[in-house]
Amino acid sequence: MIVVMRKDSTREDLEGVQRRIESHGLRVHLSQGVERTVVGVLGQIFDELKSELELLPGVLEVVRISKPYKLASREFKREDTIVKVGDVSIGSEELVVMAGPCAIEDNEQVLSTARLVKAAGAKILRGGAFKPRSSPYSFRGLGVQGLQLLAEARKETGLPVVTEVMAPEDVGMVAEYADILQIGTRNAQNFNLLDEVGKIKKPVLLKRGFSATYEEWLLAAEYVLSGGNSQVILCERGIRTFETATRFTIDLAAIPMIKSLSHLPVIADPSHSTGRANLVPPMTLAAVAAGAHGIIVDVHPNPAVAKCDGAQALTFDVFENMMSQVRAVARAVGKVPAGMTG
Ligand code: PEP
Ligand code: MN
Repeated sequence: MIVVMRKDSTREDLEGVQRRIESHGLRVHLSQGVERTVVGVLGQIFDELKSELELLPGVLEVVRISKPYKLASREFKREDTIVKVGDVSIGSEELVVMAGPCAIEDNEQVLSTARLVKAAGAKILRGGAFKPRSSPYSFRGLGVQGLQLLAEARKETGLPVVTEVMAPEDVGMVAEYADILQIGTRNAQNFNLLDEVGKIKKPVLLKRGFSATYEEWLLAAEYVLSGGNSQVILCERGIRTFETATRFTIDLAAIPMIKSLSHLPVIADPSHSTGRANLVPPMTLAAVAAGAHGIIVDVHPNPAVAKCDGAQALTFDVFENMMSQVRAVARAVGKVPAGMTG
């Protein structure tokens, strides 16, 4: 339920509304937009509450939110949420490219990739230090050492970094290194982890669970938002279907659909969704055309020897080439390709 305040309502009116909600053991979430001040009511809503709140001074209207996710919904917040990372705005008309290796392997690998992707126009460096692998015998990442290498690459290139956190107890430590914390598809319904990233003050990149409906995905976001962290970026990364030729099936309709259901930024991962490097450029362009606010893509100096997901990694040449096409499509759909000239 949301309480929309009148334009001429006072601070006392607002405090009165908040007190009344809290007196029922419910939680309040305030959103002070340019257009309107909205008080979100969180918890088990009872029938009489609507008329009770409508009578309070300063209240314009009380509206029940029809969706099970509240804070993530467009009904709650009409304007797009823009997540700022340094001077990069995710969720705006800028098209933001995040690129880098699937897993951080060594200093040279991450640094050379960071330099190249930056020169080609990427604004955020990606790289996994804690890798969720289907098999326990696969390379599972360098852990803290990987985070240190990532931080060095940021220092040298100035690119902010995004990296995955797998365990609730690691959130504080990963947040010391990362500019954006990634929640992977396999942890997209790890509610303890979602609660934990809800408590921090850094942006969260929330991958879609590979069998999650839009509603389940937005409810996962709701965990983070209701914990007090409003900086959530959603990422379509493919879902499991009957098709086996690709690793997953990229659901591009999710992009416009999520944009209509939610105010949160939405980006796409053409690498993990297809699992095949030759499909990455066309799916990247398609995601941009579908209205994605950004793209996250695997790039490796030598995919043939990559320790993780080499089959889907782009070489430097292919990435550079793709970026000029990304610029063209971005412009064609009214986006500003962030930091990309030429
Ligand atoms: C990744 O981006 O490195 C990753 C493991 O992605 P996903 O969780 O989408 O598989
Ligand atoms: Mn990967």
